[in-house]
Amino acid sequence: MTTPLLEVKGLQKLFPVKKGLFQQRSYVHAVNGVDLKVYAGETLGIVGESGCGKSTLGRCILRLIEPTKGEIQFEGTDICKGSKQELHSVRRNMQMVFQNPFDTLNPKLQIGQILTEPLFTHGIPREKRQRMLEDTMEIVGLNKRQLNRYPHEFSGGQRQRIGIARALMLQPKLIIADEPVSALDVSIQSQILNLLQDLQEQFSLTYIFISHDLSVVEHISNRVAVMYLGEIVEYANKDQLFQKPLHPYSQALLSATPISDPDEQRERIILRGDLPSPSNPPQGCKFHPRCHACMEICRTVAPPLREVDGRKVACHLY
Ligand code: SF4
Repeated sequence: MTTPLLEVKGLQKLFPVKKGLFQQRSYVHAVNGVDLKVYAGETLGIVGESGCGKSTLGRCILRLIEPTKGEIQFEGTDICKGSKQELHSVRRNMQMVFQNPFDTLNPKLQIGQILTEPLFTHGIPREKRQRMLEDTMEIVGLNKRQLNRYPHEFSGGQRQRIGIARALMLQPKLIIADEPVSALDVSIQSQILNLLQDLQEQFSLTYIFISHDLSVVEHISNRVAVMYLGEIVEYANKDQLFQKPLHPYSQALLSATPISDPDEQRERIILRGDLPSPSNPPQGCKFHPRCHACMEICRTVAPPLREVDGRKVACHLY
């Protein structure tokens, strides 16, 4: 078996919640004991409702947020234990594309300045910088004559291309894309998805693709992890998951996605209630208050993520 490019073991992120003077401190369990393996050249989709912890997981992997517990191994190096210098050199190989690039592009800087910033930080010599800048603009389908423009002068789709260009500047191996198309019009979404796929092929990139939209995840991923309240509840190849989801939560998510074939019928599973608060998650299986297949054991015993027919599922039904 090939060694994974990235391996995450037991990752946990708790956010403290401020309470009254004499009340016990509580925590939001944003990510709770997540294990993942990502192999070079693949796309791992992470899917779930908003608030399930998928974006926090992505940010923890890049250590933009410090994890509370767990290991993150990139090419065999545990980046949670390494020195600042080691983290700095690993960061070059792990970049992020954000949902709304407008929020992360400094409005006072020209695009050329924004894109060369990471090159300065990583000590790329001056003679290489301009060439890398112009090459990257071309790769993402932007014109180098636009380098002296400001972020507000671009459309949403162009700004996302700039976000992708910034992530590509240092020629990383892994890109974590957090809802990269959800703020865009549908026609622009497909352009950006196609661009990401072309870049993956051209540069052998590895992606972690975070989205609440199952159809987008189906389009781009090789394997998919379904998250619920900070935990992975199903982890499968794309075809396995989309042809026959096993976990009741995956089934409900999939039942809500539009079907392109008008002859195909799919029964919609309506989830009961809202996502419970991650600061006070239910006992036993965290999904039990909303699950149509809930049994007595589900209320008290949390199901482990175990191997079922070549995939992993956390459910007492299997
Ligand atoms: Fe539903 Fe029980 Fe499975 Fe949880 S463990 S998903 S409550 S059947």
